Amino acid sequence: MNNINNSMTMRIKALSVNESFARSAVAAFCVQLNPSIEEIGDIKIAVSEAVTNCIVHAYGYGEGEMSITVELYDNTVAITIQDFGKGIEDVDKAMQPFYTSSPEDERSGMGFTVMNAFMDKLEVISESGQGTSVYMEKIVGKEAEVKC
Ligand code: ATP
Ligand code: MG
Repeated sequence: MNNINNSMTMRIKALSVNESFARSAVAAFCVQLNPSIEEIGDIKIAVSEAVTNCIVHAYGYGEGEMSITVELYDNTVAITIQDFGKGIEDVDKAMQPFYTSSPEDERSGMGFTVMNAFMDKLEVISESGQGTSVYMEKIVGKEAEVKC
């Protein structure tokens, strides 16, 4: 990856009302790299999943904050979504398709699988009681076209 060209961080309350704000704000910042409409759509979906997880799982719809950092490189968007909530005991297990700790809420356990599918890289770091950090990368613009 090349040198970082631009970055932003926002810290917002983990409220459902902020989910659409977060995905739109990230998408608006990424526009600088000339992504396709499809790539912007992919980024929005991945951000939505990570932010929803903070609201639902990290804080159980209770009080809390999340930090969202977006870094732009020449052809790559790197997004870190961090919370300071419950944390994940077993990250490998949590990332398996269809695993959910909230089946009673009719969750499908597909959030991490969706993030993986729509982004080029996904890394999750978590500690019980400390919080969770989700790092995602996506190659966008002309470079992504060449890659296909
Ligand atoms: P879906 O996303 O399909 O509605 P889900 O949220 O349960 O269902 P994933 O997003 O794949 O599925 O997450 C899997 C599990 O990982 C969750 O059920 C939860 O136990 C745990 N998890 C995910 N994100 C967090 C987080 N930020 N804090 C605490 N636990 C989390
Ligand atoms: Mg989820």
